[in-house]
Amino acid sequence: MSLSRDKIYVGGAWASPTSADTIPVENPATEEILGHVPAGGAEDVDRAVAAARRAFPGWAETSMAERGAVLGKLHESLAARAGDIARTVGLELGAPLKIAKAVQAGLPLAVLRGYADLAAEPVREETIGNSLVVHEPVGVVGAITPWNYPLHQVVAKVAAALAAGCTVVLKPSELTPLVAYLLFDAADEAGLPPGVLNLVTGTGPVVGAAIAGHPDVDMVSFTGSTATGRAISHAAADRIARVSLELGGKSANVILEDADLTRAVKVGVGNALLNSGQTCTAWTRMLVHRSLYPAAVEIAAAAAAAYAMGDPFDEATRLGPLVSAAQRDRVRGFIARAGARQVAGDAAVPDRGHFVAPTVFADVDPASELAQEEIFGPVLSIMPFDTDDHAVEIANNSRYGLAGGVWGTEDRAMAVARRMRTGGVDVNGGSFNPAAPFGGYKQSGLGRELGPYGLAEFQQTKAIQR
Ligand code: NAD
Repeated sequence: MSLSRDKIYVGGAWASPTSADTIPVENPATEEILGHVPAGGAEDVDRAVAAARRAFPGWAETSMAERGAVLGKLHESLAARAGDIARTVGLELGAPLKIAKAVQAGLPLAVLRGYADLAAEPVREETIGNSLVVHEPVGVVGAITPWNYPLHQVVAKVAAALAAGCTVVLKPSELTPLVAYLLFDAADEAGLPPGVLNLVTGTGPVVGAAIAGHPDVDMVSFTGSTATGRAISHAAADRIARVSLELGGKSANVILEDADLTRAVKVGVGNALLNSGQTCTAWTRMLVHRSLYPAAVEIAAAAAAAYAMGDPFDEATRLGPLVSAAQRDRVRGFIARAGARQVAGDAAVPDRGHFVAPTVFADVDPASELAQEEIFGPVLSIMPFDTDDHAVEIANNSRYGLAGGVWGTEDRAMAVARRMRTGGVDVNGGSFNPAAPFGGYKQSGLGRELGPYGLAEFQQTKAIQR
């Protein structure tokens, strides 16, 4: 059955794109074409931005609580599609069913519900001396998203922007555009005011660039690679448009000498391999105290080798394919050039599909390509350290600063966590909090998403003196 879509969504209705050009969407587990979506153009972006601009004054004037009620309805419509969401992400990304259900469908629904609830809370205004400080929506937002958590990344932007009173033009990744259509089916059903949420599918250099450089887009909210984030920043700089960037990472999982070793290594391997390693926060560098190092390498190699690869729709599968042949070849290139001791990675991969076996390298040089570049595949690098200071030094020896882990007795682990130059750190396996601020230091990004900090990203701050 074809999953093709031939429309974009503009001004509260499905609309025909200007050109008949399309983009194929591949199932990376079978290499079959699932369907096609419109390859939008600059004129389609113009139409969508104009619709978002027309809708902005009215939407901005509604109360936060009213907008929260609309988000509540959107949540209801989207939640009714949870099964389709998991299935669609399973098909277009190759996400194993269990992850597709729990994370790819579960997380965006939790985030959307969270923003509906946050919007219902009393509006935060502050008095400083004779000034009343109020928050107002930034305006028309262009949202550009990647393929690895294709609905979550969309919802993190759309829910916060709409709650703040902004209107949105979305361009999802051309590799995984199908699940975004389910959000717009839900929006259409929920009766969002026309123009507050618009969809233009297409490629980055055409539709993405048209959004980033559009004179009437007040803010660009981007998630993707650091290279594209840089291009978007340049485009937005000409008109001093606000930019928020969620970019790449090379996160360290630091295992101190007093850690629960087995748990730290097993959770660390799971983190690095989640979504076939296509996770911006993945702990791709495992830093282990030298006294525990040989045991850690052994446990990690065995844990990685035990990952079942294969059909994402088979309940036993824990590792799906990479999203595309290009991504698979890129990852294989890193493995071929690794120059470190390989302790896992020779498992046979299925004949069809863009699979890479879970791969672990030990004795990795902290300055090497393997330890410095974001690989975005199921590849873990392990390296030893001698003291807590040494661990912090290696962990911070990165141009990225997105996430990380620390394992050890609470006080000591907390002290190391505070010294890590990253937007987030999990101590002893602290679980993901969808209401906590999420974002990067250094070249991992600008700004924060999720929860109240994510909302503030889409607000201007005004001081009214009395
Ligand atoms: P990408 O930068 O290639 O693409 C992301 C989006 O930008 C896509 O929609 C793409 O079409 C668009 N795009 C590409 N070129 C463009 C241009 N010139 N102008 C405007 N838009 C353009 O990234 P990707 O390969 O889709 O995603 C993988 C990357 O995303 C990884 O580096 C990963 O770390 C990062 N990522 C970051 C986070 C985070 O929150 N920090 C989350 C997930 C992924």
